Amino acid sequence: MDADAASFAKTVLGWYRRYGRHDLPWQRQDAYRVWLSEVMLQQTQVSTVVPYYREFIKRFPDIRQLADASIDDVLQQWQGLGYYARARNLHKAAGVIRDQHDGSFPQTMEAVEALPGIGRSTAGAILSFAFGQHWPILDGNVKRVLARCFRVPGWYGQSDTMKQLWYLAESVTPAEGTSDFNQAMMDIGSMICLKSKPKCEACPLKKMCSSYRHHSQADYPQKKPTRAKPHKRTLMLLHRFEDQVLLWRRPPSGIWGGLWSLPEVDGERDVDLWQQSFLSIKQAPQKIQQDVIRHQFTHYSLGISLAIIEIDKLPEKIFDADNYVWVEIEDLASHGLPTPVRKLLSSLQD
Ligand code: SF4
Repeated sequence: MDADAASFAKTVLGWYRRYGRHDLPWQRQDAYRVWLSEVMLQQTQVSTVVPYYREFIKRFPDIRQLADASIDDVLQQWQGLGYYARARNLHKAAGVIRDQHDGSFPQTMEAVEALPGIGRSTAGAILSFAFGQHWPILDGNVKRVLARCFRVPGWYGQSDTMKQLWYLAESVTPAEGTSDFNQAMMDIGSMICLKSKPKCEACPLKKMCSSYRHHSQADYPQKKPTRAKPHKRTLMLLHRFEDQVLLWRRPPSGIWGGLWSLPEVDGERDVDLWQQSFLSIKQAPQKIQQDVIRHQFTHYSLGISLAIIEIDKLPEKIFDADNYVWVEIEDLASHGLPTPVRKLLSSLQD
């Protein structure tokens, strides 16, 4: 480590001792808890994660219990956190740890990175926090701090930019106190070097921050040129028989993979064909509510309309019956539902 890198690390560690976060529920815990928190923290803030983390640990206190649980139970526990692929990968990885590592979290970078859903940064975080190993991390907060401090050109989707950021992360991360350093960099990113309006006056790195010196904080990290998000539309079918509604289990991959939802068609003209194909019935919707919810995904927005179809007799059979279920309205909460669908159905429970 050269002198500049050593002084960077010393400054960060000094700040951490006085101002960093030392009481998060997953700190100084075993690798399972650290791993769970890291996965939950991807794209989600600490304050949102804490209650979900506590409930998840209560329900699945160790890796074996998570691995042995059904994916439905895991998704149900995850509901509300979004990005459900994270929960599916967590469950899959728990199975790998149970079957290939005798239930103990692996301790080499190679083995940790090989687990589903764990990239280099998450692996570095788990190995440094849980086992005190010397690995750098590069989550969204750390990337922003480094991109600004060293005025790294380009955006994160560019491999040269990522190479440079990893090189910098490796250079400044000390072998002694790695876990405190990594936590401190996350804290500086989330508490001080904010996306907009960074609090530079309170930042321990301001003397060595190139963006601060050049008044160019707003220019880093550089943004990928944006294209307008496409807007898609879907019509969800709410079949209701007395106090039951028909739910459909979505395919395991794709949006809301594996969660229970409502059957969908492109538009009103497809309702008839869908009903005849899946339920062998013919019943026009009593009501169509247009664009009840607009949901934002990373790459597009989705306008959801709702067709309400009351039927007076349960269909005798359902095509692809394994993926459909009639559920009592009062039992809806025990099914893993995507947030917009839960909102759509919540009015039924009033
Ligand atoms: S001085 Fe400002 S821009 Fe630089 S790292 Fe600190 S908060 Fe971020």
